[in-house]
Amino acid sequence: MSADVEIDAWLADLGFGAGPSRTAARAALEEADLTRAGRARISMLKLERATAALKARFSLHCPSPACTHAARASGRQPLLAVAKASCPHCGGSDNSRAARDFVAACARAGTRRLLVVGGSPSVREELRAALGSALELRCVDGTERRTHERARGDLEWADLVLLWGATELDHKVSAHYARPPTAQRGKVVHVARRGIAALLTAAVEHLRRGPA
Ligand SMILES: [Zn+2]
Repeated sequence: MSADVEIDAWLADLGFGAGPSRTAARAALEEADLTRAGRARISMLKLERATAALKARFSLHCPSPACTHAARASGRQPLLAVAKASCPHCGGSDNSRAARDFVAACARAGTRRLLVVGGSPSVREELRAALGSALELRCVDGTERRTHERARGDLEWADLVLLWGATELDHKVSAHYARPPTAQRGKVVHVARRGIAALLTAAVEHLRRGPA
C-alpha cells in the first residue's frame, strides 16, 4: 500500500482553507475521480495530478484588490486563499504586489525609464530588487549635491519621476526636480508616503490618471 495524506491538511497547505475554498477544491477532486465524497485521505501517488487539477481550475488570491482582480481575470475560478502567504500573485508581500502592479501599469503607459529621487540606500536597493529588470531605474540620492545640469539630464532621460518626499530628501536636491520645464511637468510625481508599496501605489495612481 502506498503512503497517503490527509486531504484537508494537504489542501490547507496549498492555500485552500476550511469553508467555500475547501468545498470547491474537494468537489473538483471528486469530479476528476481523484477522491470520493467523505474520504479523508488521498494517496501520495495522486497528489501531482490533484495539484494540476486544482491549478487548472482555480486561481487563489489574498484579500488585496490587486490580487483579487488578477484572480478574476485569470479565466479560472477565483478563491480566497487561507493565508496571505498562499497568494500566488503576491506571495503575501505588499512590496512585490505593488511592484507587479507598477510594472504592469508602466507597460500599459509605455513607461520604461524610472527616476526615483530620495529614499535611503537600503530602500533603493530593495526597490531595485523588487522591480527586477522590467524597467530602467535611475536613483538619485536625496542627500547628495546634484548639479542643475545633471538634474536637467535626469528629467529629460526619465519617462516617470518619483519625488519621494517622505524620506531622505534635501530641499536643495528636490528643488531641481520639483519644478521642471513645462514639457516635463506631467511626469513628476510627488510622493509623501513612506515605504516601497506606498511609493509604487502612488505611481500607479498617477499612471492611471494619464498624462497631466
Ligand atoms: Zn496577494
